[in-house]
Amino acid sequence: MKTVAFTANTVTTETGSSLKLAVLFGGGLLLYSLSQWLAFATRLQPENMPIFWPPAGVMLALLVAAPIRIFWPIVFGLAVATLICNHLAGREFSLNVLLTCNDIFTGVVGAALYKKWLGKASPVSGTRPYGTFLVIIALSAILSATFGSFILRYQFGTAPLDVWHHWIGAMVLGLLVATPLLICANERSIVPNSFKFDAELLIVLILGSIWLFIAQSGATSSQSMRLAADIAMIPLLLWVGVRRTALEASSFLAIVTTIKILALALDAGPVSLKSWPIPDGVSWVMAVFAVQCGAVLMLVANHSEQGALQLDKAEQTARMRSIIDAATDGIISADHKGKIETFSRSAERLFGYQAGEVIGNNVKMLMPNPYRDQHDGYLQHYADTSEKKIIGIGRLVTGLRKDGTEFPMELSVGEALNGSQRVFTGFIRDVTEHKKTEQRMHDLQDELLHVSRLSAMGELSSALAHELNQPLTAIKNYAQAAGIMLKKDMGKEELPGILAKTVEQAGRAGDIIKRLRSFVTARHVERSDHTINQLVDEACALALIGAREDGVKARIIHGNDIPNLRVDRIQIQQVLINLVRNAFDAVRQSPVRDVSVTSERRADSVLICVSDSGPGLAPEAEANLFKPFVTTKPGGMGIGLSLSRGIAEAHGGTLTYQRNAGGGADFLLTLPIETDDKTSS
Ligand code: ADP
Repeated sequence: MKTVAFTANTVTTETGSSLKLAVLFGGGLLLYSLSQWLAFATRLQPENMPIFWPPAGVMLALLVAAPIRIFWPIVFGLAVATLICNHLAGREFSLNVLLTCNDIFTGVVGAALYKKWLGKASPVSGTRPYGTFLVIIALSAILSATFGSFILRYQFGTAPLDVWHHWIGAMVLGLLVATPLLICANERSIVPNSFKFDAELLIVLILGSIWLFIAQSGATSSQSMRLAADIAMIPLLLWVGVRRTALEASSFLAIVTTIKILALALDAGPVSLKSWPIPDGVSWVMAVFAVQCGAVLMLVANHSEQGALQLDKAEQTARMRSIIDAATDGIISADHKGKIETFSRSAERLFGYQAGEVIGNNVKMLMPNPYRDQHDGYLQHYADTSEKKIIGIGRLVTGLRKDGTEFPMELSVGEALNGSQRVFTGFIRDVTEHKKTEQRMHDLQDELLHVSRLSAMGELSSALAHELNQPLTAIKNYAQAAGIMLKKDMGKEELPGILAKTVEQAGRAGDIIKRLRSFVTARHVERSDHTINQLVDEACALALIGAREDGVKARIIHGNDIPNLRVDRIQIQQVLINLVRNAFDAVRQSPVRDVSVTSERRADSVLICVSDSGPGLAPEAEANLFKPFVTTKPGGMGIGLSLSRGIAEAHGGTLTYQRNAGGGADFLLTLPIETDDKTSS
């Protein structure tokens, strides 16, 4: 038990300096001897026993404060001091030894219990530790009184019960007045700030001195006056108990109690013990003192507890505040009606308001219309239905700054219950920068698509030149023929036909250039309703330029019932041109050179399949097929398929590969039919 009880002080032993220990040892023993002297001053006849035993309290405080290194030396010192004091008080040797043993034994037991049950807590740090302290006091007093009564009986033949309750009273009072010493004995003092001398303390001291003068001095011999002064002291004690720190209040109480007991013993108190039937009168007076002391200390303990709770709360609030202020996201809390309660530093930066300007106002002041006008309705709706639209979900909304500008913000809202009322906390992130980056990414994507289209057309340049050359040559031939006819003035009836063919050829060349221009122009994404079959035709017209010359047989098979889809025309054409050009490249070296493009309606999508009779893809090449920069072509960039899949997915569709029955490649592009909800640009 000793090991458990005293280990707590090992730390002090290691860190405490020798000087500190010497002061504790010497000062403690001196104080103990003084308290013995004080106790003997309160001896009453006929038992010749003190009615007040502060040495018990001083011993307890010393043993609680003593580090393990000097614990037993202090016990020894206390024993010697007790023997000397008892001797000086005229006690016979054997009684002296027995009483000393009793004092030391009960002191060590009391200290062990204190360390085990209270550890390093101050006895008045709360109502619970105080209750434990009272139990320790009671046990120590009973133990000491019981042994003591038997010692006296053995020595003088006194009936044990004659002194038992008397002894207990003296011990209890002696231990109660040691409270300030025990507070100091514990490292973790509950005293929030060190001793403060202020006007209030001055008033206490003045009133205390007046009380001392009237009540206990020989200034008046009227016992009723002394009694009135004693009663007047009670409110002062209570006031000090509530207003001052635990150390100050318990010290004041200890001084007042000691003076009162001394006055009684010296027959200068409100009642004369000497004239009372003894021992009953003494016991009653001591009981009244003990209750008075106990009650004031209870008040002190309760007050300390409240103080500690308030400190805890203040500390928690301060910690919470620092977290809120350090957060990079804006944090705003509001009550169930939307009234702002907290507005963090970053929220101040985001919205341009100071916390003082918004706290107490409705949170809707931070939103632009139409949300501002609808917000009360949202809160009411949530209160009525508990249907969560934003709480725990998070959303992109618009915030309104003090200067009237709006900004995109990501808002997530948490909810807590404060009693029965809901409290909402919003976490806000300004996504203006994020949105700008997103826009830039879009622009870059557009540029990349544009570059890719230019590159595709670059690859087509010689075939294009050839394609354009045909109508131009035809136009030239028709024009020459017409010229000859006019010159020779013959066959004029054929001229309208020749001119019509010229116009037709010029139109053909114009169409090619028009498509080419619209395909390669830099542009932003634009979605509108398009006839898919027409879109396929136009894409193939460009993609298959030069195919016939290379001996490629191209087929376009339109499915029936294909609805218009809401797509970006150029992007879908870009996908198709890329797929068809790849197919074209794949079949170039094959004996059979077939490329087909088919469209087909599925349940909720349209499928466009670009199929070829080429060699297809090796299984290991399939895995990386849609990754950027994967190419097998000498001049290829390898971005066509990855861009194409990106476009398909941005439209809510898919782009996949499969090997067809002939061993060639099938690229399957699906586009969803209900595009309204699923797609966004
Ligand atoms: P690039 O055409 O610039 O190489 P793509 O992303 O369009 O870039 O194609 C990547 C690679 O996929 C091509 O280099 C080729 O090896 C393979 N590929 C694409 N389509 C076919 C196809 N129809 N048949 C065989 N291989 C193909």
